[in-house]
Amino acid sequence: MPAPLMHIETSPSLPREADVVVIGGGVVGAFTAYYLARRGVGVALLEKGRVGAEQSSRNWGWCRQQNRDARELPMSTKSLDLWEKLAQETGQDVGFRRCGLLYLSQDDAEIAAWAKWRDFARTVGVTTHMLSAEEATEKGKATGRRWKGGVFLPTDGTADPSRAVPVVARGVMAAGGTVHQHCAARGVELSAGRVSGVVTEAGTIRTKTVVMAGGAWASSFCHQLGIRFPQASVRSSILAVAPGAIGLPDALHTGPVSLTRRGNGGYTLAISGRARVDPTPQQFRFGREFLPMFARRWRSLAPGGLEGWRQGHETLAKWTLDGVTPMERNRILDPRPDMVQIRLTHRRACELLPELEGVAISDVWAGYIDSTPDGVPAIGEVEGIPGFILAAGFSGHGFGIGPGAGHLIADIVTGAEPIIDPRPYRPERLKTAAWGKVAEF
Ligand SMILES: Cc1cc2nc3c(=O)[nH]c(=O)nc-3n(C[C@H](O)[C@H](O)[C@H](O)COP(=O)(O)OP(=O)(O)OC[C@H]3O[C@@H](n4cnc5c(N)ncnc54)[C@H](O)[C@@H]3O)c2cc1C
Repeated sequence: MPAPLMHIETSPSLPREADVVVIGGGVVGAFTAYYLARRGVGVALLEKGRVGAEQSSRNWGWCRQQNRDARELPMSTKSLDLWEKLAQETGQDVGFRRCGLLYLSQDDAEIAAWAKWRDFARTVGVTTHMLSAEEATEKGKATGRRWKGGVFLPTDGTADPSRAVPVVARGVMAAGGTVHQHCAARGVELSAGRVSGVVTEAGTIRTKTVVMAGGAWASSFCHQLGIRFPQASVRSSILAVAPGAIGLPDALHTGPVSLTRRGNGGYTLAISGRARVDPTPQQFRFGREFLPMFARRWRSLAPGGLEGWRQGHETLAKWTLDGVTPMERNRILDPRPDMVQIRLTHRRACELLPELEGVAISDVWAGYIDSTPDGVPAIGEVEGIPGFILAAGFSGHGFGIGPGAGHLIADIVTGAEPIIDPRPYRPERLKTAAWGKVAEF
C-alpha cells in the first residue's frame, strides 16, 4: 500500500564513471545530487525502486523548526529557505508553503515544555508564538473545543511528499546529473583503502566519492564494508482522506491526533510518535545502543511482529556483488500498515474535527522510520574509508531538513564552506553511548 507518488522518467543509460555516485533516491540523496549537479559536479543518483517511494513520500510533509533539538535547528532554518528557493530554481511546485504549524494542548506540562523551547529558540534568532487559552481556542476553532494553550511558528511550513523528491530528481537531470531508477547499488569497491567504484545491478561506475543515502537500508549496506552504523527503524502507520473537508487548519498537532493538508486538498492523519517496533537481526545487534531512545519513547512504541524481518532491510547477512542482493529483492520498502492504529487515528480525527466525518479515506500506508541512537542524523565521511560519505539516520525529521542536509553533503564533497556547522552530525559520535543525548521529538 504505497503512499501517493508522482511518476517520473529518468536517465536511460548508466555512466561508466562519475565524480560522485549518490546511493538512494530519497529526499536526502535527491537534494545531495541536486546541489552537486548545480555546481557542475558529474553526479549519478541511484535508486533501487522509484525515487521518493520509501520514507520520503510516506511522511506528513512537515518542515519544522518548532521543538527541534538544538543540534538540528540550524539545518531546519536553512532548509526552509532552500525549500522556498526550489520552486524558483526548478520552475516546478513542490507544494511548499510557510503555512505555520499549529500546536494545541490541554496539558500544562506540554505547554510549559513549548514555552521552554520558545525561550531557547529566541537565543538563536527563531521566534515562535505561545498562544493563550483564548488565542489557542480561536486558532483551533475547527475543533469546537476550548484549549488551555498552544504554540504557533508562522515561518514553518509543509511541502508535498507526493511530489517533492520526483521534482528534485528532475532538477538533478536538468542540471546535468543522471538519475537511475530500478538500479540498486550492490556495493562499493575500494582500491588502496579508498573508494574507487560502485557496483550496481546494471554495471560498475568508476568514482572516487560515494554518498550512502539509503535511508533504512544504510546500516546493512555499511555492514558489507565493515562499517558499524547503529541504526534501527520503527513502523509508523498513517492514512489520508480525500478532499472535501473545509475550514480545517493546514497543519495541526494535538496529543491525540495530528493532521496536515495535502497537495490535492485532502488531509494526512496520524498519531504523533506512535509506532511499532518489529524485531530484526539488526535491532538485536544494536539493541543496547537504542536503550536510551526506547526508554524515552516507550509510551508511544508498541511491540510489532515479523514484518521487519521479512522485509530484509535490517539483515546482518553479507552478500556478494555478482548476485542478486536484498535491495533488488525488495525494490520498495512497503510494510503492512497497523490497521488497529489506522482505525484509532481515524476515530480520533473525526472526534476532534467532525468536519472529517463525511470524507472518505483515500489511502492507508506504513513506513519504516530509520533512526540513530541519539535521534540526530549521521552525516560525514566515514573514518578509515576516504571517499565514503554516510548520510542516514534522519530519525523522523529528514523530509523537512532534506534540502539543508543535501546542501551540507554537497559542501562536504566539494570542500565548500559548509552551510551549517557539520560537527553535530559526525558519524564517529555514535561510538559513544547516547544516554543524555537523545533528541527531543
Ligand atoms: C509516517 C512518517 C511520517 C514522517 N513525518 C515527517 C515529517 O512530517 N517531517 C519530516 O521532516 N520527516 C518526517 N518523516 C521522516 C522522513 O520521511 C525521513 O526522515 C526522510 O524521508 C528520510 O529520507 P532519506 O532520503 O534518508 O530516506 P528514504 O526516503 O527512505 O530514501 C532512501 C532511498 O534509498 C533507496 N536505497 C536504499 N539502498 C539502496 C541501494 N543500495 N541502491 C539504490 N537505492 C537504495 C531506497 O529505495 C529509498 O528510496 C516521517 C516518516 C514517516 C515514515
